[in-house]
Amino acid sequence: TGDDADTADRTTAERDAADLVARRDRTYAEVQEHYYEAPPRIERGWREHLVGTDGRVYLDMVNNVTPLGHGHPGLAAAVAQQLRTLNTNSRFNYGAVVEFAERLAGVAPDPLDTVFLVNSGSEATDLAIRVALAATGRRDVVSVLEAYHGWTYASDAVSTSTADNPNALASRPDWVHPVDAPNPFRGRHRGADAARYAPEAAERIRELAASGRPPAAFIAETFYGNAGGIPLPDDYLAEVYAAVREAGGLAIADEVQAGYGRLGNWFWGFEQQGVVPDVIAVAKAAGNGYPLGAVITTREIAARFRTQGYFFSSTGGSPASSVAGLTVLDAFRDEGLQRNAAETGAHLKGRLEALAERHPLIGAVHGLGLYLGVEFVRDRATLEPATEETAAICDRLLELGVIMQPTGDHQNVLKVKPPLVVARESADFFVAMLDRVLSEGW
Ligand code: PMP
Repeated sequence: TGDDADTADRTTAERDAADLVARRDRTYAEVQEHYYEAPPRIERGWREHLVGTDGRVYLDMVNNVTPLGHGHPGLAAAVAQQLRTLNTNSRFNYGAVVEFAERLAGVAPDPLDTVFLVNSGSEATDLAIRVALAATGRRDVVSVLEAYHGWTYASDAVSTSTADNPNALASRPDWVHPVDAPNPFRGRHRGADAARYAPEAAERIRELAASGRPPAAFIAETFYGNAGGIPLPDDYLAEVYAAVREAGGLAIADEVQAGYGRLGNWFWGFEQQGVVPDVIAVAKAAGNGYPLGAVITTREIAARFRTQGYFFSSTGGSPASSVAGLTVLDAFRDEGLQRNAAETGAHLKGRLEALAERHPLIGAVHGLGLYLGVEFVRDRATLEPATEETAAICDRLLELGVIMQPTGDHQNVLKVKPPLVVARESADFFVAMLDRVLSEGW
């Protein structure tokens, strides 16, 4: 019967998944706790949808690497054409590479017009730090607690999030000086008191300068991504950037996660704070999953870096990556991605806020555009994080066909970051499934 066939299929798919997990654990070094024990084996995708070998369709709600979603025909065709025409030769890569660098510089604010191309977000933030160290001739960097900036040496050093890496603080080198995470929802200063974060960070910078260790840079996300998408307190960046510049250092914006259109325009985080950083790191969305990242800075800073530092990447900004980057930029221009981020994001946030009225476990709905965070708490007064509940909700959502991931230092926030092409119906489906899980229990 049909039912028997279904059961047989499911058993095959389950065996297949178990086999995959065993092989993964044996050979794949990057096994982390948040990897699923029995992952659906995804074999293809279309826009925000994924299809497993079990025949099920999943909604990909946590993928900020693919603004165009999966299976974008233009991207596949453009990269294939480039690979058929010219692969890479690290000496004569001009056409698409120069064009991508120019168009990326065109997206960045003035006076940032000089671009270094790399393969990933970690390389971008690492290079941004190296640019600042070499351009200033200094060795100290101020970063924000609970941040994640990457896995390479310098980007890992300034990553203080213990949720991502339990050893983050213990292994921090002495040139990294953390200041409080400017989190107005959960943190030392809440609500109106959040205005105190900026003067405290500025004071720390002045102290370092006075003690003979003036920082080369202050690095932070301009929209507090790791906590689930929380805008910084008003004027935070203006005050901290002014302090670091007064001390002769540079302001680095890590736009790897929240920048590049996800918040409804290219760089909402620093634009709405009314500042322009000295160095910007981008990646993730830039290549829609094809390895591509960049550091964007001024001609003058790039020139100072070149006299002291060195940069050459064999594969960073290859012709194929650059073509991927150009196709993504074309899609942003032609396919209304930022408008969809703003509109579907606002719709989704409104629906999640309505859910919060019925489900006290939702302590807050953070975020903007298609970078939202649903924070679960056991008690809205004490904000006790509902960590285990969040994990269970994620597991149950997966059973219902929605792929999500917890975030934040307490792992009690659902990151909502679908591809920017996400349809309103898909957003509504996610809300309906979350409503169901919260109503039924988990
Ligand atoms: N910076 C931020 C803010 C990120 O979220 C990430 C990735 N999670 C990185 C840097 C590192 O990017 P990648 O994984 O591409 O190296």
